[in-house]
Amino acid sequence: MQHLEITDLCKTYKNGVKALDNVSLTISSGMFGLLGPNGAGKSSLMRTLATLQQPDSGQISFDGINVLQHPEQLRMQLGYLPQDFGVYPRVSALDLLDHMAVLKGVLNKKQRKEQVAALLQQTNLYTERKRAVSSFSGGMRQRFGIAQALLGDPKLIIVDEPTAGLDPLERNRFHDLLSEIGENIVVLLSTHIVEDVHDLCSEMAILAGGKVILKGKPASLTQQL
Ligand code: ADP
Ligand code: ADP
Repeated sequence: MQHLEITDLCKTYKNGVKALDNVSLTISSGMFGLLGPNGAGKSSLMRTLATLQQPDSGQISFDGINVLQHPEQLRMQLGYLPQDFGVYPRVSALDLLDHMAVLKGVLNKKQRKEQVAALLQQTNLYTERKRAVSSFSGGMRQRFGIAQALLGDPKLIIVDEPTAGLDPLERNRFHDLLSEIGENIVVLLSTHIVEDVHDLCSEMAILAGGKVILKGKPASLTQQL
């Protein structure tokens, strides 16, 4: 059973903003929701867990890996969809995903082709695979973002505010995709939308001002909001 343990994480930026203030969380298999308003520190936590920035202090472990000491070991098991996921113009979804698979270390051509096709199918983008990602709608881009996060069979994916700006239909589709994925691997989802955690997550925490102010089961917590 996969297990992400975050202990006493602190981060103050150079401008003096304390984005993470003694954050401690235990995240096990399934889907975990991190709910909080803009500026709560969600992206700071996600970037730290994705090993893209260093905290000032604290510990992170995943499946026995000391993440802050050995970030490269986590990266091999991690998929990440950042909040500001950028896409390249005039490159087809198929070619872009193939290219990203190479970067992720899926070097065998046949294996890569199979994995890329399977992920495009899983995210419902296969029929659109020849289109440039830059021409995709918001929902399609987010689904493409999930496809790239799943390259290389990660054990953990971190998705930062993936439903912001999606219309209700696309959000529902996205929910279906995430809950399917959450059956097999740990999904850590950050959002400011209560319905996201309510509909999807088995455990959640609320972050505000860099602090975890509540943690527990969505069914009991979201009623209080
Ligand atoms: P650190 O203190 O971790 O070294 P920096 O101040 O060097 O962080 O900023 C790292 C990156 O974050 C820069 O690219 C910067 O533009 C960006 N950044 C700075 N301020 C903010 C902010 N308020 N919100 C989001 N990103 C920011
Ligand atoms: P959220 O994802 O919940 O909106 P963030 O982690 O982006 O929260 O931001 C938390 C706080 O830290 C905000 O006040 C933001 O302006 C600030 N912040 C985020 N990144 C940086 C950075 N790189 N440099 C300076 N301040 C930052």
